[in-house]
Amino acid sequence: MADLPGAEGDISPDEFRRRAGDLVDWIARYLESNRSHPVLSRSLPGDLLRALPDDGPEGPEPWENVVGDVDRLLLPGLTHWNHPRFFAYFAITGSAPGILGALLEKALNVNGMLWRTSPAATELEQRVLAWLARWVGLPPTTFGVLTDTASISTLCAIAAAREAALGAEGRARGLAASGKRLRLYRSDESHSSVEKAALLLGIGQDGVRVIGCDAAYRLDVDELRDAIAEDRRDGWTPFCISATAGSTSTTSVDPLAAIADVAESEHLWLHVDAAYAGSAAIVPELRTLLTGWERADSIVLNPHKWLFTPVGCSVLYTRRPEVLKEAFQLVPEYLRSDVGATDPTEPPASVGHLRESAAAAAPAESPSDHAQDGPIDYMDYGIQLGRPFRSLRLWFVFRAFGRAGLETRIRSHVRMAAELAAKIDAHSDFERLAPTPFSLVCFRYRPGVGDNSGDGTQLTRTDEDRWATLNERLLSELNASGEVFLSHTRLRGRFALRFAIGNLRTTDADVAHAWELIQSKAASLGAPTTSGVVSRS
Ligand code: PLP
Repeated sequence: MADLPGAEGDISPDEFRRRAGDLVDWIARYLESNRSHPVLSRSLPGDLLRALPDDGPEGPEPWENVVGDVDRLLLPGLTHWNHPRFFAYFAITGSAPGILGALLEKALNVNGMLWRTSPAATELEQRVLAWLARWVGLPPTTFGVLTDTASISTLCAIAAAREAALGAEGRARGLAASGKRLRLYRSDESHSSVEKAALLLGIGQDGVRVIGCDAAYRLDVDELRDAIAEDRRDGWTPFCISATAGSTSTTSVDPLAAIADVAESEHLWLHVDAAYAGSAAIVPELRTLLTGWERADSIVLNPHKWLFTPVGCSVLYTRRPEVLKEAFQLVPEYLRSDVGATDPTEPPASVGHLRESAAAAAPAESPSDHAQDGPIDYMDYGIQLGRPFRSLRLWFVFRAFGRAGLETRIRSHVRMAAELAAKIDAHSDFERLAPTPFSLVCFRYRPGVGDNSGDGTQLTRTDEDRWATLNERLLSELNASGEVFLSHTRLRGRFALRFAIGNLRTTDADVAHAWELIQSKAASLGAPTTSGVVSRS
């Protein structure tokens, strides 16, 4: 320590207090005033790279310079996800309680890989996930585990599905040696993370069968049944259906109860991707839209989407934790919890001795028994070993708002979306392109649509291209304004604007302002010409 500046080797506690106070003030000001920033960054590629020095600092730099650079260099390069008029993708919130939870999480810096590496981290995770399960209408005994993203939760879920299909043989000898050609079913509206999981798990794109959707973008169950039957005849081994509750493009909900019937009769693992809409089940009248999800083998729900929790927080629920554990448990000597235990869970010496002899007889790293009879070691239920104390964020958010507070906020987002949808429906120059069950509105500008033919019109490919060009232009102009940020999708070849409401600080006035802006920008575009180029009116 002698050559370190200061006894702590770190900044001093007093200096920490000063800087933390500064930073918290900065954050409070940011949250109050971030409407003043353009929502979508106007940065050009390389702007920040050019502004930052090639080499890092050799010695300490003054704190004031660092925070000054946050304003000067970083803010212009940010797209403000915490902005109340961020309506793109799925709008989210780093709420104040969630931010404080994240701060404490980083300060404590515990790693909850094993129960004993921080018992409170494991048990808080168990408890808050049981609260959430109860609030969304799932049995509170449902096993839950936190990951960083829905992509990882889904990867773990499909790994468990594969484990259920292949068993110990698959684990020992791998998928290729099993000789099975596994097939997973998803709809053409499911999120790309499902297929990505299949790629990573050796299922391959050929092993993913894409099922069509009905007019409301919900998986077609008859087609699913037929596909499974056909695949069995052709020598495939169907193993998993991945259904969606709240699809990314439109928030459609697949017919979960009917899909659960198929999964049960075919003995397939049912995974439900409720990354976005799972949170809506806190609202009783919305929960009914998800009926059937309680029969899934696994469910993903992202608090960082619609539960006001900073990014990096996804829940994987499963009714079959023993299978998830079979898929992931691998305990090397240096991670054994039963050695060097100083806690009340320490096994008697005789048991420890038996385990050691078993370990000596078994391969170096093998799964141990799957029954969960003691404290949970969460490292056994996923890919990562190191695990941040994510549940703190949820605990802070849940205790700050309460269940009823979450319900009220989610319901108000759904109401705002319904009101916007009604305005779009009433406007003769706009058309809605999908139902609005939650807080996302999909629509496009199509001047004159309400005057004559309405939705029934069969447009030619050229017409569609023209409307797409017009709406792309509208989207660019809206986003360039800095006042709002919307994103897009394509629905049956039609270019659609997506207006997603999900930020805590979004008000009716924000939505009204955005709708005014959409109308005025659209009017200024003029009508599309036959070449697809717009002519100013
Ligand atoms: N599933 C759905 C339905 C989504 O909409 C998304 C992202 O928007 C994901 C999964 C992936 O989420 P994540 O970014 O947490 O991996």
